[in-house]
Amino acid sequence: MSKWVYMFTEGNAGMRNLLGGKGANLAEMTNIGLPVPQGFTITTEACTQYYKDGRKINDEIMDQAMAGVKKMEEINGKKFGDLKNPLLVSVRSGARASMPGMMDTILNLGLNDEVVAAMIAGNPDPKFERFVYDSYRRFIQMFSDVVMEVGKKYFEQLIDKMKDAKGVQYDVDLTAADLKELAEQFKAEYKKQLGEDFPSDPVVQLKLAIEAVFRSWDNPRANVYRRDNDIPYSWGTAVNVMPMVFGNLNDESGTGVAFTRDPATGEKKLMGEFLKNAQGEDVVAGVRTPMPISQMEQEFPEAYGEFTKVCDILENHYHDMHDIEFTVDNKTLYMLQCRNGTRTAQAALKIACALVDEGHKTEAEAVAMIDPRNLDTLLHPQFDAAALKAATPLGKGLGASPGAACGKVVFSADEAEAQAAKGEKVVLVRLETSPEDITGMKAAQGILTVRGGMTSHAAVVARGMGTCCVSGCGDIDMDEENKKFVLGGVTFNEGSEISIDGTTGNIYAGIIPTVDATIAGEFGRVMAWADKYRRLKVRTNADTPTDAKKARELGAEGIGLCRTEHMFFEADRIAAFREMICSDTVEEREVALDKILPYQQGDFEQLFEALEGNPVTIRFLDPPLHEFVPTEDADIKKLAEAKNKSTDEIKRMIDSLHEFNPMMGHRGCRLAVTYPEIAKMQTKAVIRAAINVQKKHSDWAVKPEIMIPLVCEVKELESIKKIVTDTADAEIEAAGIKLDYEVGTMIEIPRACLTADEIAKNADFFCFGTNDLTQMTFGFSRDDAGKFLQAYYESKIFENDPFAKLDQNGVGKLMEMTIKLGKPVNPKLHIGICGEHGGDPSSVEFCHRIGLDYVSCSPFRVPIARLAAAQAAIAEKADKGCNCGDDAKKSFVDDETKAKLEEAAKKAEEIAKELANQSADVAKAGLEGLKAGFDAAVKAYKETRNK
Ligand code: ADP
Ligand code: MG
Ligand code: MG
Repeated sequence: MSKWVYMFTEGNAGMRNLLGGKGANLAEMTNIGLPVPQGFTITTEACTQYYKDGRKINDEIMDQAMAGVKKMEEINGKKFGDLKNPLLVSVRSGARASMPGMMDTILNLGLNDEVVAAMIAGNPDPKFERFVYDSYRRFIQMFSDVVMEVGKKYFEQLIDKMKDAKGVQYDVDLTAADLKELAEQFKAEYKKQLGEDFPSDPVVQLKLAIEAVFRSWDNPRANVYRRDNDIPYSWGTAVNVMPMVFGNLNDESGTGVAFTRDPATGEKKLMGEFLKNAQGEDVVAGVRTPMPISQMEQEFPEAYGEFTKVCDILENHYHDMHDIEFTVDNKTLYMLQCRNGTRTAQAALKIACALVDEGHKTEAEAVAMIDPRNLDTLLHPQFDAAALKAATPLGKGLGASPGAACGKVVFSADEAEAQAAKGEKVVLVRLETSPEDITGMKAAQGILTVRGGMTSHAAVVARGMGTCCVSGCGDIDMDEENKKFVLGGVTFNEGSEISIDGTTGNIYAGIIPTVDATIAGEFGRVMAWADKYRRLKVRTNADTPTDAKKARELGAEGIGLCRTEHMFFEADRIAAFREMICSDTVEEREVALDKILPYQQGDFEQLFEALEGNPVTIRFLDPPLHEFVPTEDADIKKLAEAKNKSTDEIKRMIDSLHEFNPMMGHRGCRLAVTYPEIAKMQTKAVIRAAINVQKKHSDWAVKPEIMIPLVCEVKELESIKKIVTDTADAEIEAAGIKLDYEVGTMIEIPRACLTADEIAKNADFFCFGTNDLTQMTFGFSRDDAGKFLQAYYESKIFENDPFAKLDQNGVGKLMEMTIKLGKPVNPKLHIGICGEHGGDPSSVEFCHRIGLDYVSCSPFRVPIARLAAAQAAIAEKADKGCNCGDDAKKSFVDDETKAKLEEAAKKAEEIAKELANQSADVAKAGLEGLKAGFDAAVKAYKETRNK
């Protein structure tokens, strides 16, 4: 029999995979003596089982859950469904990785008409009666929404109607009688929607609620969130069942959320919000504006004192910034959740540095704790300082997620998506956001809300996505219906331009120009640590000197891919290039190519200059020629004149370039096979440029790497390589200079992988072009896949876009095979990757594991790749140290300690050898002495580590 249910006392923080993050941390907090209402967790494996059983909870799981209820009743001295001392519970989701707001929670479960009546009868205080009905109406609403999927809105409308009828603004102003009436209305609504009575048996309620949480793992917004955050569907969610504590009991009660450090800036100060006489999501949902945590100190001194103590305990225990959900029930503090707090990239870096300085973490641990994907936001533009200073803000909200955003105002998530799809930059402006808005939020440059604090849905989700967000700007006079709002006397309509500053919270009319980001301060410090640990080199994909310079600033150690064709599109060269394409003879072509040569050479010189002697990989012409030919009549006429041909002739030539399947057509090295003179010209341009730059900088070792694309057969490479070396050697000899160069190939056709042992003999390097390799391996094109991939996600055939996240099972296997075949026949062969995957953290980790020498990615992804490469190296060392679980991973040994240990081991070996020559007794005594010494050393080491 499997164990499906764990009491909080049976778990710990290391059991996250089985108990989910929430369950594991509730157990851990229990273990370290924090005030947690005692309940139990149904495992993530039970969730997987639920899906295996065809979306049913089997009897074994349900029996164990009911046994858990029984134990919970004993611990808490209350009974489920009891009329004297009823136990109410919450049923909460909680996956391995935090998925804020994506799944569902039900509060106050166990209530029914009898329990309500009995509770009220047992306590004559009218305030208590109000509390009971408040809990009841909340329960019916949540149960209906989450479990029975009757929309929340029906109930919200009833609440609004009641508030209107009673002339009050907030739900707290409703009386016991109002709430009682509401509960009745809710039950009636339930019956109207579902045609049956609200279930009154608490056991039935519980079973349905557990089922609903399991089911919520598969809801659409959770699926989108998982895809964005690399969370596998197979993980499942756990369910936590625990006794309710009541923040809505009276004015001595309330509920709050807090961070032990500022999640936006990383500053070391308690941040949070608290709402009096409230329950659950009230703080986050923005039903009333919560008070800042500092004000809680004045109004709830005891609970606040206790709370700050708990925060310190948590930081010292977990050695990280924590995000906490808590409730005060009649002045007593209860902890309901803690987890590593989501933070902005800026805060993540600041906190990582602070944790190292405070002695909580080693440098390697600090590097390992930063999500590389987050860095992206820091690398996005910020407002131009001068322009920002000159601008006058119209209003101010909370700087909820930093960064700069400008664009056109939209009022709905759908509109944001639609506009973004058209390439428009938009800022989503809402009263408040809800989980349904997530795709629209992702599409927007920034998010601006009227209501909600630093922990509102908009704020939390935006921070997670790295999107700029200003929340809670109450000065906005919103008219959602007519799609307009007024702020600071200015009226904004749909399409009006707006700029928001997620750091200061300022809001401006119009577009404020932005500037690129740089690596400085804590960012630089963490990147320097990362560089100490990584083995993979990081290069960049850059076609222009500007990109190359930017990439160098961001730490690129070379160019891994320069696409030469991009250089041909510029106005001054496209004409010559077209003349080259529309040539009938080699001679004609050579005349045109001679015109292009100086341009190419000039481009390459600038690239070599920008890279300051670091390697530069230049790929020869790759795309099908038809991409370059003119389509406009005027251009065709111009070309005809230049070529001394009729426009009809030119048109005929253009037509002849048409291909049914250009991506698999006349392109890549096939162009050099048919037109060797193109390869010759490009070789001359590369080598002449290198010679010139080498001459100028004698202290650099300029070493061009010429890369032949789309090779599938070694003889293709041989034949083109001969053209390249003949041309290059002649140029070098003529210049009378010493210059090294390499000729290698892209690996992007499965046949090249399969025959890598042959190709490697003729190549100085391989570079995986994983965009084409993915396309050719899957057999669908990147440009068309978008149309059907959505259906693939929905039917769970794919969890990710293989063009964004490397398919390790298929494409990855080809890569591994290529390395295994290639390296032994050519030990000098260096191997890299230059597809978009080169900047995707999980793909970088894979590249490290299979032994690539470098990854190459777009300039702004260079820091991401550097960090991901370091994390891969750190994780690998930890794995090698010992493979006995998460705790052991922490005992990562740095290089210095490792050297010391090795030295000690060598000495021990010498002593042992010497002992072997002694008498048996002496040897035995000596060995025991050695062992004792060793044990003591290990113990001492462990102790220093634990500090
Ligand atoms: P999420 O994962 O979306 O944060 P939770 O399961 O944490 O959802 O529940 C949301 C909120 O409900 C909590 O922050 C807390 O305020 C409230 N809550 C959950 N369980 C209890 C409980 N046993 N007693 C009181 N409030 C609870
Ligand atoms: Mg929570
Ligand atoms: Mg390619």
